[in-house]
Amino acid sequence: MTCSICKILLRMCFLRILSGKKCKQKNLIIILLIDKTVNIKKWRLQALHFNKIYAIIHTDRFTLFITFLFKYMSILEIVSKVDINEDLWNESLEEHSIVPDEFDGTIYYRVVKKVGPLKKGTVVTDSGIIYDFPRIARILHLENGIKRAFSNPFFVEEKVDGYNVRIAKVQDQVFAFSRGSYVCPFSTDRLVDFFNYESFFNENPDLIVCGEVAGPENPYNGESPPYVTEDVGFFAFDIRINNSDQQVPLEKRYKLFDEFGIPTVTRYGRYTPSDIKDLKRHINDLNEKGCEGFVFKPTDPSETTVKYVTAGSCLRDMKVTSSLMTEYQAEFFTSRMLRSLFYLLENDLDLNEEFLKKTGEALLLPLFESVKMVAGGEMITEKFKVRFNKKQNIKKLFEHFHKCKVDANLVRQEKIGKYWHVEFMRRCFPSYEAIQKYWDGNLHFD
Ligand code: ATP
Repeated sequence: MTCSICKILLRMCFLRILSGKKCKQKNLIIILLIDKTVNIKKWRLQALHFNKIYAIIHTDRFTLFITFLFKYMSILEIVSKVDINEDLWNESLEEHSIVPDEFDGTIYYRVVKKVGPLKKGTVVTDSGIIYDFPRIARILHLENGIKRAFSNPFFVEEKVDGYNVRIAKVQDQVFAFSRGSYVCPFSTDRLVDFFNYESFFNENPDLIVCGEVAGPENPYNGESPPYVTEDVGFFAFDIRINNSDQQVPLEKRYKLFDEFGIPTVTRYGRYTPSDIKDLKRHINDLNEKGCEGFVFKPTDPSETTVKYVTAGSCLRDMKVTSSLMTEYQAEFFTSRMLRSLFYLLENDLDLNEEFLKKTGEALLLPLFESVKMVAGGEMITEKFKVRFNKKQNIKKLFEHFHKCKVDANLVRQEKIGKYWHVEFMRRCFPSYEAIQKYWDGNLHFD
């Protein structure tokens, strides 16, 4: 490590002579000492894409640069623990498998394609590695699935319908990371409303709280649980460990949630595979209330976590997505139809008029509205409402949309009481374009 620092410092001295010039030599670390008037923030992010440029600094900010350099060294040290050496790290940056990003002055790296043991969704910071949130296996038949998945007791939790966040401390700031490994500006803004994160992370800086943000006023999802009638809520379900892909054991996790007053998903407690009758009763109850389903978590670490959803949630999924059906894989809809039919059959429910009507409406009504809009020359749009604590984070949400290639435009922002109430509109151009081509009479083979 010391040796690498010397190497870099040596190169730095050399490069100071070159400052201001663009160097073509391949393996050289370039430092650009630029004039104060240049917008350095913009340049610094650009420069990070070209990993040979380690820094662009204003001539009077050399100390800051040294800090930055040490941050770089600590990132290399962190990833070296998962067998990623400097060459692989730099190659991954060059190939954009790892992409640098920044939020409120904190630089973090998003893994967008698997690198060594790090999977898509992982975040690398100079405080450690925040591993991706793993996918959960699904069962379609509750009784058979449970019997196949578990021989030992398991815990049952409600599956809350929202979007996933991993809340972690990076340096002295706490951020909410999305499944796609971005800092989510909306969730990060709202952390203060979710729980006393300062007291939690002061005592547990190496833990990561995972949970669902759910409610009708969220910037991503059209669905929300029936018991969140306005705004959003946070529902924790997992605690993971920094620099490890492991979770805190379930009972300890529940204890921490309770100790720090962290709101959680509904916990149904401990069950065994022979409790299937009770589970069916609970799931029918959830279906009637309009909830999404269950997640089953093993007590025996050799067994896997599984999920199971209600028929109603399948219909709602189809209803909120079918307006943009042309953008989805057909499998999205067929899997939901199959899930709902399995649900009916296993629970001795009829495929009655009402269910058929609801399915037809979920699939066709929103799509019909889309076609009608395009035929009338209108863009297909989706409206969202959200609440923010800090005005400056509204802008950050739109910057985030821009990065994710989401075409969203602010309609209104107004401070009412405690919050900034924001309305925005998402333009769904790919769906519009596909439908418009058909409407215009374009020929195609299918
Ligand atoms: P879905 O299962 O909703 O179609 P997905 O395609 O993201 O979503 P997975 O990758 O298997 O599916 O992830 C399961 C999702 O369930 C996660 O995004 C997680 O946030 C969410 N979830 C909701 N409630 C829970 C819970 N109690 N335990 C674990 N995960 C939960």
